[in-house]
Amino acid sequence: MIAQGFQSKLPTFYTLWDYFTLDPPFFNFRECVYLYDLHTHSACSDGELSPSALVDLAKSRGITTLALTDHDTVAGLIEAQRAAGDDLRIIQGIEFSSLWNGHGIHIVGLQIDMASPVLQAAVAQQQQSRFERARAIAQRLEKVGIQGAWEGVQYYAKDAVIGRPHFAQYLVDTGYVNSFAQAFKRYLGTGKPGDIKQCWSNIETVVQWIRSSGGIAVLAHPDKYGMTHTKLYHLLEDFVAIGGHALEVVSGQQDSRVTDKLYRAAKDFSLLASCGSDFHALGQGRQPLGQYSPMPEGCQPVWEYFS
Ligand code: AMP
Ligand code: MN
Ligand code: MN
Ligand code: MN
Repeated sequence: MIAQGFQSKLPTFYTLWDYFTLDPPFFNFRECVYLYDLHTHSACSDGELSPSALVDLAKSRGITTLALTDHDTVAGLIEAQRAAGDDLRIIQGIEFSSLWNGHGIHIVGLQIDMASPVLQAAVAQQQQSRFERARAIAQRLEKVGIQGAWEGVQYYAKDAVIGRPHFAQYLVDTGYVNSFAQAFKRYLGTGKPGDIKQCWSNIETVVQWIRSSGGIAVLAHPDKYGMTHTKLYHLLEDFVAIGGHALEVVSGQQDSRVTDKLYRAAKDFSLLASCGSDFHALGQGRQPLGQYSPMPEGCQPVWEYFS
């Protein structure tokens, strides 16, 4: 699948007059095409690449607008901006963990002001929650016979905010499981000992954090919550009522039936449409950077609202 999600600046019809009067970039197809990836991770949370390595990869893939949306941190944004220079537009982003009716829900904030006092306080609070949650996860794992997880995740997370993928790495490297998927299936996924989400703020608070720091609130990867149609629509009703702006209609390489369903949901709730790879790492079985299913025509793209 080739990179998608572009928007052409080219007008549909040209006259001979256009060819003589339009600026030189008119003739350069690359400069006329935008490719957006509005959901990505770096090593500041659970991604593999440093922010600058991520930016270099984005440039090499022809991405023109990249949102760095690390989990509950803005620590990578300055480095990403510096590495981007004038060749690539960085959208300041974050992916907040939140809670809605007992479900862990991710809300992406795009074009947030990272200097906003509200945002800074929110990030500090979430990081404290992540720290306490990691301790609790380690204790629960110990109860089911897994030793040393707390020390293990310190080693893997280094300076990053601690997340379940760091636990998964520990479980794989110590041989308790043989893959990330198995780590989530047995120990970290929904309903398992390491699934702790009660620590997160409710969805309304999180949307308010994003709104008050000037950002656009996007409900991330709606198909990953395993909800029925009725439950998803209930979530969307609440999301709109509390001031949410957009729905991630396309998350990575997804089934076209999922895209159709989410396109309809965005229409039904008059939500803007966002798209992104949710890139974490290179390698087989991971979502590649800048490559995701096409955005359906007729969506109202979130980037039209970027300032
Ligand atoms: P956390 O933010 O600590 O709740 O961890 C959630 C992260 O774990 C997600 O953002 C994914 O990167 C990763 N993740 C969740 N489920 C799986 C899975 N089944 N296999 C691999 N990684 C997963
Ligand atoms: Mn992640
Ligand atoms: Mn997520
Ligand atoms: Mn993500």
